[in-house]
Amino acid sequence: MTTGLDCDVLEMTLDAFRRYADDALPESRLLDMDATEEFPAELVRGMCGDELGIQLLFVPEEYGGMGGGAFDVYRLCELMARVDLGIATGVLATFLGSDPIRVGGSEEQRQRWMGQLAEEGLLMAYAATEPQAGSDLGALRTVAKPIKENGSINGYEITGAKQWISNGAVADLYSVLAMAPGGPSWFVVEQGTEGLSYGKPEDKHGIRDSNTASVLLDDVYVPVDHLLGNEEGQGLVQAQKVFGYTRLMVAAFGLGCGWEAMDRALAYSQERIQAGGPLSEKQGYTHKLIVPHVIRLEAGRAFIEQTALRLDAGEGTLITEGAIAKYYSSEAGNAAAEAAIQALGGYGYTREYMVEKIKRDVRITTIYEGTSEIMEMTIGRDRWQAHLKTRGAHYHEQATALERLHLQKPEIGADTAALAMHALAELLERCRQERLTRNQHVLFRLGELISHVECADALSRRAGLSLDHQLDDKADQRFQPGILAAMARIQARDAAAKMAGDGLRLVIGAAATPQPDLADTMQLGAIYAAQLGLISDMTTVADALYGRPGG
Ligand SMILES: Cc1cc2nc3c(=O)[nH]c(=O)nc-3n(C[C@H](O)[C@H](O)[C@H](O)COP(=O)(O)OP(=O)(O)OC[C@H]3O[C@@H](n4cnc5c(N)ncnc54)[C@H](O)[C@@H]3O)c2cc1C
Repeated sequence: MTTGLDCDVLEMTLDAFRRYADDALPESRLLDMDATEEFPAELVRGMCGDELGIQLLFVPEEYGGMGGGAFDVYRLCELMARVDLGIATGVLATFLGSDPIRVGGSEEQRQRWMGQLAEEGLLMAYAATEPQAGSDLGALRTVAKPIKENGSINGYEITGAKQWISNGAVADLYSVLAMAPGGPSWFVVEQGTEGLSYGKPEDKHGIRDSNTASVLLDDVYVPVDHLLGNEEGQGLVQAQKVFGYTRLMVAAFGLGCGWEAMDRALAYSQERIQAGGPLSEKQGYTHKLIVPHVIRLEAGRAFIEQTALRLDAGEGTLITEGAIAKYYSSEAGNAAAEAAIQALGGYGYTREYMVEKIKRDVRITTIYEGTSEIMEMTIGRDRWQAHLKTRGAHYHEQATALERLHLQKPEIGADTAALAMHALAELLERCRQERLTRNQHVLFRLGELISHVECADALSRRAGLSLDHQLDDKADQRFQPGILAAMARIQARDAAAKMAGDGLRLVIGAAATPQPDLADTMQLGAIYAAQLGLISDMTTVADALYGRPGG
């Protein structure tokens, strides 16, 4: 069964947010909040309360919410990030904070706190990270000591320090990960509980209008029914269960920031005249600073949409897919924002033109909810297992499926994406034969290569669906099918070239002996031949972006 909102309800929700943002968050206000590091607590409370009720989207219907699915949450997150990532982070923190309750709480606990969230629009915080436990949460030192009365546990005393907690100083409710005798466990701690305090807001590089603070717990007593799921030791499992979902949200943040920066560069380049004409007509400008970034963002979107649909169809936790979505889209968003500064020249380097702020803001998406390196590790490790379990068939089979797709739809680059997949399968196999994944660097770089290929696959499929007018009703519809097809061809060429370049170099660089046959096994000749038409496709995409004939 598919979960989520009807298309018109989603569109109404997005429109309501757009109107709210247009009214309450003009650029001048956003720049002021960035400069003064002001967290607009009342505004975020209004958004997550009576005024807008944005939190209802992620509260299930049975607890008084709207029961939005992953697809709905992705669309909203992209839109929020386009407006302001700091404010979006304030909303994300509430969503993350409620997650341990949603997935790990007992029915009674869900009724209580999810119900409260729906009705009162609370701000929440997700307090997992510690000064010594970041990527490695297993190293946490915050402890929850059981307090017994008449031989049975009636509560816990929590002591420790949490670091970098979004909404840390402003939340009404905290989900706190602490080590109980039975293992890491989530506890709900209410604001105002004795012993709970927080540090001053961090002075950050970006998202300066979000509140990030340390949270200190000094013998904080919580009743036993604040242990989520009423069972110790479930904390890390509960955290893992939602990674597919929550990382998709951060992926959507990368997408939103990246596109906001690109749209500003597109507008600027049509106005800015240099050397006798607008920058938008200079190929050296568009084909470097605009087109490749737009395509990477759309490849990320294709993967996000594919994963969101699968999550909503109940296909499991999709942790690896969440990691690919987050990794690819956050890196694409970051690179797009960097390119947008360059695209605006000196103006891009000033605060007034916003892209400088977007660049500082989007940077966090490659760090929080799992750093890019941890994503590379997750992706590399999980797909490596798939390669071993299928005795090397995993990516060859997907390549064969793409070859079949190419026979039906020759224009979507599926044949080139198939070449990239076959090459990846050969790279993995050579890594197995030569035992190269003993090098952590090799495993991580494989994670990167895998993401490129899987996003190329997703974009080809999305272009195919678009040609058949089969994209989901709720899918983004910015580009015509022919333009998506051109983007898919470029992305597939890029992925294949990456295998031929970076992949081949990686294996040769890590192996103990020369690998003279590998280039042929990976079909390098065919990969280079498939680059034919690259520049002309880039021009087609540029023309479409600028609304010129041919696009
Ligand atoms: C603005 C902001 C908001 C945040 N909000 C929250 C929040 O609301 N709740 C919360 O719980 N946390 C939050 N965080 C914490 C965030 O999730 C962590 O910062 C992040 O997980 C990384 O942990 P760390 O900072 O300890 O870095 P580390 O784990 O120390 O990593 C440092 C570097 O080493 C790399 N690295 C780490 N482990 C390995 C490894 N095994 N192999 C190779 N390389 C490795 C990392 O990729 C990174 O480049 C927030 C952080 C920031 C900056």
